[in-house]
Parts: sequence; C-alpha cells; structure tokens
Amino acid sequence: MKIGVLALQGAVREHLKQIEQSGHTGIAVKRVEELSEIDGLVLPGGESTTMRRLMDLYGFTEALRQSELPMYGTCAGLILLADEIEGYDDGHLKKMNIKVERNSFGRQVDSFEADLDVKGIEEQVNAVFIRAPHITSVESNVEVLSEVEDKMVAVKQDKYLGVSFHPELTADHKIMKYFIEEMVAKNK
Ligand code: GLN
Repeated sequence: MKIGVLALQGAVREHLKQIEQSGHTGIAVKRVEELSEIDGLVLPGGESTTMRRLMDLYGFTEALRQSELPMYGTCAGLILLADEIEGYDDGHLKKMNIKVERNSFGRQVDSFEADLDVKGIEEQVNAVFIRAPHITSVESNVEVLSEVEDKMVAVKQDKYLGVSFHPELTADHKIMKYFIEEMVAKNK
C-alpha cells in the first residue's frame, strides 16, 4: 500500500517511519498532484492553523475536501478532519461529523501519556497527548474508539480515522497498521 503524509508542517518524518515499519510505502506529499499516487493519507500533528494556511496556499484545502482518499489524522490532523471546532465559525476539511475543542486538556497538564484501550485494537496503545484536542460531540454515524478522563479521543467514520494523541511519537505503530490494513486496504 502507498500511504501519503501531508508534508506541509508537523510530525511528518515520524509518520513516514511508522508507515515503513508497518511494511508499506510512505510518501511525503507536498504537491496536490501527488494525491493521485497514494491509497490513503495521513494528516500529522503540529499546528492546525498553520497547516490550514499552508493548505490554502498550495491548493490542498479544496483538493482534500473533494478527495475520496481514506484519511487518518493525529492531533492537529484530527482538528483538520472535524466538521466543527468549538469557538470557530467553520471547520477545515470537514470530513467527519464531529465537533472538537482545541488545547482542551488544560494548561497545567500541557502534555501527558496514557495507555489506552482502543476498540478494534487488541493490546493497549501508548498515547502521548501534547496540547491535545478532544472530541466534544459526534453524530450517530461516528464510532467512538477510545476515551480518557471521560473525553472522546479516538473516532472512526467510514474511511476516516481521527485521534487526539500522537501515536507517531511512540514506538507503537498499531494504529497505523490498523488504518492501512483495516481501512485503506479494504477501501481499494
Ligand atoms: N494545539 C494544536 C492545534 O490546535 C494541536 C497540537 C498537536 O498537534 N500536538 O493545532
């Protein structure tokens, strides 16, 4: 499987490494034309407002809104996928029927780690949260895969997967493998 990582800003290299570790080919996507070469796309963690600015500049916002590719967003990438963002007029790519709140685990606990149960994945997943968003509401077609402190932190809707945390910053590539093998492969 050929999996792209949107390479405008954020934790791109780390995702490429996890794709390779999962036994697939990772491609850093910098131009819209490269979207036609891949089977699925990862939206990395970073800063969603910066990513949005760069996506507008390079034509990705429109191209990805129209794209039929399966997508997997981590942290800022989850924010890009959401229909709605608390406190903002509009979402970015609006692929998932969810609402998110940015930086929502409080200032004092800027970052933390937790071992999470994630539906569909056998063993616990080691999750790193950094100024993480959480999902405040979902429509009925969205499956909630994980929660921490009563907050939704992993969701799936059809061929879209979003998590609040950063699996790419750990040695744990179970979620990447799940995205590629359970979602991208089955979409082909
Ligand atoms: N706080 C960032 C945002 O709102 C996301 C943080 C992250 O990706 N680590 O875009």
